[in-house]
Amino acid sequence: MKIIVTGGAGFIGSHVADAYLAAGHQVVVIDNLATGVRSNVPRRAKFYQADIRETKKIDAIFRRERPQMVNHHAALASVTVSVREPAAIMQTNLVGTVNLLAAFSKYRADKNGKFIFASTGGAMYGSPRHLSADENTPPNPTSPYGLSKLFSEQAVRFFAREHRFEYLIFRYANVYGPRQRTNGEAGIVPIFHDLIRAGQRPKIFGDGTKTRDYVFVGDVVQANVLALGRGKNTILNIGCGREISDLAMFQAIARASNYDRPPLFVPYRAGEVRRIALDARRAKKILGWRPTVKLEQGVPRTIKAG
Ligand code: NAD
Repeated sequence: MKIIVTGGAGFIGSHVADAYLAAGHQVVVIDNLATGVRSNVPRRAKFYQADIRETKKIDAIFRRERPQMVNHHAALASVTVSVREPAAIMQTNLVGTVNLLAAFSKYRADKNGKFIFASTGGAMYGSPRHLSADENTPPNPTSPYGLSKLFSEQAVRFFAREHRFEYLIFRYANVYGPRQRTNGEAGIVPIFHDLIRAGQRPKIFGDGTKTRDYVFVGDVVQANVLALGRGKNTILNIGCGREISDLAMFQAIARASNYDRPPLFVPYRAGEVRRIALDARRAKKILGWRPTVKLEQGVPRTIKAG
């Protein structure tokens, strides 16, 4: 199959592009290198350095490539930037997604093409009363980033219904693993590890009790591979269902980095969720997916990869 992978120069998208190539598919990467790097794009992929906000350019790429599927990972993935610049986040995350959907509606190769969309579970549900949160938990984003993903999900469903293609929406927990960079605030492993290496103390926003659900990038990639053959017109959480506190995560990173000083505690940041864990039983039922890498293995693997 020919698959357009957007964000294929970034952390998750580049791993997905690698896996699709390894499975024998043709991969076309679209990325403007805003936060991604050229060296992440697999050599065997065709690369367009293009901005998904540019309607005409995206239209021309799709007219030329006529993909069977789109795997859409390009986004500005920062809660803090989104609080500061909500309109910029909407431009990339929502308008960019609409440009891709409109182009795919016109130029897909197959009547039954499929659009896979990387949304967020971590920033979608707010801090729900019942954890872990399943897909029926009412969306309640606490940041413009989460809101941009919610609007984009609606856009995906609208275009898929109107233009009769399939979609699959993934709501990821906090993804971590090799190639994650320190420019997004979600990259707690590289951020803390870089500070430790530079002789500085990692900062925890809040008192250390804030929780996140962490899922290893290899497991996320596996969900994207399974999605080529299974699952349509639905939303699937991808996470481990385990709440990990900031302090516990700090300790896991400190252990793997042989660091024995305490962290610094600083005030909470705006827009951040206090507690989250995702129930991914639907992904297990529909895709046969389950997480395989535990934090105790994934953190040292991430740190070793540099
Ligand atoms: P990333 O920043 O490494 O990757 C995003 C990629 O999109 C980058 O390569 C960037 O250059 C590209 N991009 C940004 N703006 C663009 C534009 N206007 N046109 C074309 N390309 C553009 O981030 P990531 O962590 O790999 O996230 C990938 C996707 O997964 C995002 O959609 C993100 O919202 C989603 N997600 C990530 C996490 C996580 O924990 N990392 C959690 C939930 C959802």
